[in-house]
Amino acid sequence: MTVLETIQALRAELNVHNHNYYVLDNPTISDFDFDTKLKQLQDLEADNPQFFDENSPSQRVGGSITKNFNTVEHEFRMYSLDNSYSKEDLLDWQSRCQKILGDVSLEFTCELKYDGASISITYENGKLVKAVTRGDGFKGDDVTNNIKTIKSVPLQLNAGFPDKFEIRGEIILPFSGFEKMNQELLEIGETPYANPRNTASGSLKLQDSAEVAKRPLECLLYSMIGNNLPINSQYEGLELSRKLGFKVPNESKLAKSIDEVFEFIAYWDKHRHNLPYETDGVVVKINNIHFQEELGYTAKSPRWAMAYKFKAEQVSTILQSISYQVGRTGAITPVANLEPVQLAGTVVKRASLHNADQIAKLDIRIGDEVFVEKGGEIIPKIIGVANRGNQENPTVYITTCPECNTELIRSEGEANHYCPNFYGCPPQIIGRIQHFISRKAMDIDGLGGETVALLYHAGLVKNYADLYDLKKEQVVVLDRMADKSADNLISGIEKSKQISFESVLYALGIRYVGETVAKKLAKHYKNIDNLAKADLLDLVTVDEIGERIAQSVMDFFQNSENQIIINRLKEVGVQFEHNEVSTSVSNALQGKIFVVSGVFEVFSRDDLKKAIEDNGGKVGSSISAKTNYVIAGANMGPAKLEKAKQLKIEIIDEYQFQKMING
Ligand code: AMP
Ligand code: ZN
Repeated sequence: MTVLETIQALRAELNVHNHNYYVLDNPTISDFDFDTKLKQLQDLEADNPQFFDENSPSQRVGGSITKNFNTVEHEFRMYSLDNSYSKEDLLDWQSRCQKILGDVSLEFTCELKYDGASISITYENGKLVKAVTRGDGFKGDDVTNNIKTIKSVPLQLNAGFPDKFEIRGEIILPFSGFEKMNQELLEIGETPYANPRNTASGSLKLQDSAEVAKRPLECLLYSMIGNNLPINSQYEGLELSRKLGFKVPNESKLAKSIDEVFEFIAYWDKHRHNLPYETDGVVVKINNIHFQEELGYTAKSPRWAMAYKFKAEQVSTILQSISYQVGRTGAITPVANLEPVQLAGTVVKRASLHNADQIAKLDIRIGDEVFVEKGGEIIPKIIGVANRGNQENPTVYITTCPECNTELIRSEGEANHYCPNFYGCPPQIIGRIQHFISRKAMDIDGLGGETVALLYHAGLVKNYADLYDLKKEQVVVLDRMADKSADNLISGIEKSKQISFESVLYALGIRYVGETVAKKLAKHYKNIDNLAKADLLDLVTVDEIGERIAQSVMDFFQNSENQIIINRLKEVGVQFEHNEVSTSVSNALQGKIFVVSGVFEVFSRDDLKKAIEDNGGKVGSSISAKTNYVIAGANMGPAKLEKAKQLKIEIIDEYQFQKMING
């Protein structure tokens, strides 16, 4: 055998063992033998780099780093599913389908609804070429490197595959793997993860694929998509997928009638807790592909499929105490502290109590045994009293702020109490500054939420304008603040002066002004002075701005403390003007990699990045031999400049860049 043949034989053999172990749950060699063969392959590959194959089983260990996940368009849109909660809903759905299809007999595929992160994987000539998250259904993130580390995802398919197709599935974390991960975290004194679903979807966006490789993720597949696939039904699709090497849960079933669908649902409603992973329902699909085509899609979901959601899981436990949290807007949230209890695969210790009305309505008292339910949300909620443990003391909702003692208010029509001490209540002040520095706002690197609290308690910042007066000498003396961190903090704050007006507007934390509204306002008013002058009548003419938002914007700018703060931000040079930049879209930069460095006049950094991507280019995070252009602004670091020169990379300024995209 030649070296190449040996390598190929080892790869094929390891693929089979991976499949046996991770897809069929039926290993046929010992872990030790597997590791020995893998090591043998790795050594041969290292000695013979000319035979490198990115789909070799040796690549499962990961190691590639993705700084920014590229956004890619889905060739076939990834739809959501319509939900149903009762037999009636399903019967209605059946008759709607029947009405469109006429007098034909329908069969249904019943599948469990896997609760994880959706993924679409493309295969060409039997090889995995791309894996993309659902994103908004039209575009998702390219997470190929991370997906390849998941052992149940075949890199090379068994014979019988269509030339090109996509397969859709769900990346999940089985309970056992989730618990193991949490155990390890507990051992090193870290906070455990909240639930398997979020941990699975978070894993897909880890930058280091070697980290993903360590996580016991699985990929469960449910649908092949493509042109001219050799299947006539959903069920055949599942069988073919299985034959090609994919993990398709065996629970899926073909139902000959809607009654058989109900049987499937009833069975799994009862037995779902015995599954190794989380499921929150059943997905029922019209089996025949031609019928599916005839039924088509609504704006959001296929007409030929329906998700049936199980009722959320409930347990009961003792309510030990109630704490009251104060948010950045002053809203008070009551939180139940519970005797820890196992619920839907996680240990629950805290639950939401919503607001005073809810507590009163359910008459929940400390010491009671209460029902806890977990729906789709991360924080479970209390839905009622199971056993009255406390006859004497009904809960009296707080009347003053637990943080600053100010009397709470509750406006007409609002569910929550508020602490009105906007400028003096510590969690509100800290919360506002934390919001100001957050990634979608001023994106201040080198300053985290805890440091903000530290700075506040040290008396160094009382509002976000104070950040810009900070001196290194002041921060370096703080607890756990190394010299370098202090430098980073100061330079991060300095850099934030380049953040675009729309982000600044969002950062100000005006109530009801989220990212989208901030964008609209920035675009419409062009600068902060125009916005501050606008009256209610004027504001409501802006697209999507209603009276509630308009009033809140006006209140904000009429407040004299806010006026002082805004003036100070203006003086230090924070962006209060909207820059219209070219938003042309082209292929002019196809295949070119750009690195953006320094401070710019016309573009904000975000605008530059967007313009690069809109015109087909890519944004690199650091200068390397692969970089084609460095777009340099003022204050570009000398080390970067040196590196770019050394690698003979063309350095251009923003005006030259503008010319490139405008032809
Ligand atoms: P939703 O996000 O509630 O609209 O539900 C749609 C999502 O359910 C899809 O995007 C899939 O990721 C997920 N899903 C889980 N299991 C299945 C299944 N067996 N068939 C189709 N979709 C599924
Ligand atoms: Zn307060």
